[in-house]
Amino acid sequence: MTRRGNVWTASALAVTLVVAPATAWAAETGLPGVPTGQPAATQGLVSASHPLAAEAGRQILSQGGNAVDAAAAVQMALNVVEPMMSGIGGGGFLMIYLKEQNKVAILDSRETAPGKSTPQLFLGRDGKPIPFAERHTNGNAVGVPGTLLGVETALAKYGTMNLSLVTQPAIRYADEGVPVNWATAKYIADNAAKLQKWGTAGAVFVPNGQPLKEGETLKQPELANTLKRVAEQGSDVLYEGELGDAIVAEVQRTGGMMTKDDLLRYQVKEREAVRGTYRGYEVVSMSPPSSGGLTVLEILKLMEGYNLPKMGNNSTDYLHRLIEAMHLSYADRAAYLADEDFRAVPRKGLLDDRYIAQRREGINPNYANAAVKPGDPWKYEERKQPLAAVPQTENPTGQTTHFSVVDKAGNLVAYTTTIEQVFGSGIMVPGYGVMLNNEMTDFDAVPGGVNQVEPYKRPLSSMSPTLVLQDGKPFMALGSPGGPTIIASVAQTLMNVIDFRMPIQEAILAPGIYSSAYPTVRWEPGLTQDARLELTSKGHSFEEQAAYIGNVQGVIFDYTTGKMYGGADNTRQGAVLGVDGGVNWTAPQAPVIATPTVQLPFKVKRNGASLPYSLGQLMLQDGTSYVEAEKLLLGLGAKGQNFSKHFVHFGGTTQYLPVRKVAESLGYLVEWDAKTATVLLTKEHPTAIGGAGKWYSEDEFKITK
Ligand code: GLU
Repeated sequence: MTRRGNVWTASALAVTLVVAPATAWAAETGLPGVPTGQPAATQGLVSASHPLAAEAGRQILSQGGNAVDAAAAVQMALNVVEPMMSGIGGGGFLMIYLKEQNKVAILDSRETAPGKSTPQLFLGRDGKPIPFAERHTNGNAVGVPGTLLGVETALAKYGTMNLSLVTQPAIRYADEGVPVNWATAKYIADNAAKLQKWGTAGAVFVPNGQPLKEGETLKQPELANTLKRVAEQGSDVLYEGELGDAIVAEVQRTGGMMTKDDLLRYQVKEREAVRGTYRGYEVVSMSPPSSGGLTVLEILKLMEGYNLPKMGNNSTDYLHRLIEAMHLSYADRAAYLADEDFRAVPRKGLLDDRYIAQRREGINPNYANAAVKPGDPWKYEERKQPLAAVPQTENPTGQTTHFSVVDKAGNLVAYTTTIEQVFGSGIMVPGYGVMLNNEMTDFDAVPGGVNQVEPYKRPLSSMSPTLVLQDGKPFMALGSPGGPTIIASVAQTLMNVIDFRMPIQEAILAPGIYSSAYPTVRWEPGLTQDARLELTSKGHSFEEQAAYIGNVQGVIFDYTTGKMYGGADNTRQGAVLGVDGGVNWTAPQAPVIATPTVQLPFKVKRNGASLPYSLGQLMLQDGTSYVEAEKLLLGLGAKGQNFSKHFVHFGGTTQYLPVRKVAESLGYLVEWDAKTATVLLTKEHPTAIGGAGKWYSEDEFKITK
């Protein structure tokens, strides 16, 4: 498969970093997602999580390459500038929309399980799963890598340039070194111990025991040599050659069982996309072995039954239904989704209108459903399948990378690519500078479910590269990293654009949530306290501290004008670069989330979930606890009720209410836990019964058509 080509020389590594203007954006054309008053590109555009990777893609586009050529260059560059997230030691899903043929192609270069692996791979001697920290940094965590063959295949089938040419920017970055940006510095510092575990990676990223800092230069001469060999020999160097030998040796040295035969047998697969409509748009997303497309679409289909603009973005009504839709969809994900080459997946059933309508009946407009179970999508398929065991383990959220490209012909690429956790397994191939993935830990550690480890199988992914088409025209490409949170990020960004008509950049930065199961909700800064209080009163439970979720990169192609726009996330140094100028900016660092240091006088918990009050809203006076009136009523689910006769003031105009008196009159059992200084409020509500379909008809937001 080796193909030689011209040597590409990067004209400049420097990228002008311009912060996007904080304009009040509104849609100017008929298409959502399009910003007003912002320059556009017309000759191609890249949105990636690192400016130098975006630049590699932009340069390939300006040399006449198509979106696939640019995507290949971005991936090879990411291997160097963002080595903790993706590279030729990992795998990914590349989704392409080919304008001329009006066709979607997917190249699945997901890692596979080595032939010698067994369902018990991650069980310790005691029969219990080996703790994640240990099992993901061991040779057994390394799946047979697919990215290099994926990129090479994409170029051969859908590109116009060769691997050698598109690898040149990456070689130059590795040879000359690149400045460590704030994101890379943070990821190195957070993972220093893991990088040092097997030695080789530590020497590159934590030289002399000191993690590389922002502004220092990351030089990777060994990786540069490897990439030069890749440029000369193509993927053979990995699947049949010296790099493959070195990978196998290192995987075995670190406890794994990968063989040369596993590399020889590795295949990139073309997959049929998952397709569904959402409010008239065609959403085309990743099929198994990813759970992404089906789960994104199940969430969207459930939400399609509601009038979201009427609810308002991030309103309590919206978020409550979204959380419930996520619970239902993630429950189905755990029960039914796996590598389709090994297990039948109810693709049709899961998105069947009748199934969706039945699932939606599990959403009570007032209370969290505490008893969500997987549904039976096989009912809507001709071929029935028994339900396998559903393992309850969830791994820590990983981080990978997503980028999107549109070229001047209107071809789109959405590419999510990974080595699983940050810095993958932490294992670097000695002498070659390649980080190896820990994708095997995306299998269930416990055998018995559809996603158990099996030889040559691909672990279940959540990666959701997604394209949106309208009337058969290319409109949008997006995706995100973040393990299972990917699905939530992609679904919310799509609703932000399509329902709430936010321009793409705003849609990406809008605060989001993630909740895969009752009751815990992860939330991003910016989600209002009022919404969190009210949602807690409905039975949800918010993580104590905000956290950033995902890292979305998206592009919009306004096919009515030929203009191109992009959005990049600010949780890394995301960048949007247009070929003909126009869009050209780098995301400033997202505000750091501070750990609260103030000691609250007391806490309030409702059915075990903390109500998120802040210091000035709580008063403790003569052994009686008071909460700011409006906030207390929100947290108790009694918004707007009149308790004015109990109002108390503490010197200012703010009205407070005594917690016990108000809560008891609302039917709560009230206890004081002196040890933790917490008011414990308990009230049974229909949450406890869950499940059945008796609420839906009263919903004022229902769309009945
Ligand atoms: N291993 C993850 C998956 O395939 C991707 C890495 C991440 O972002 O967590 O779903």
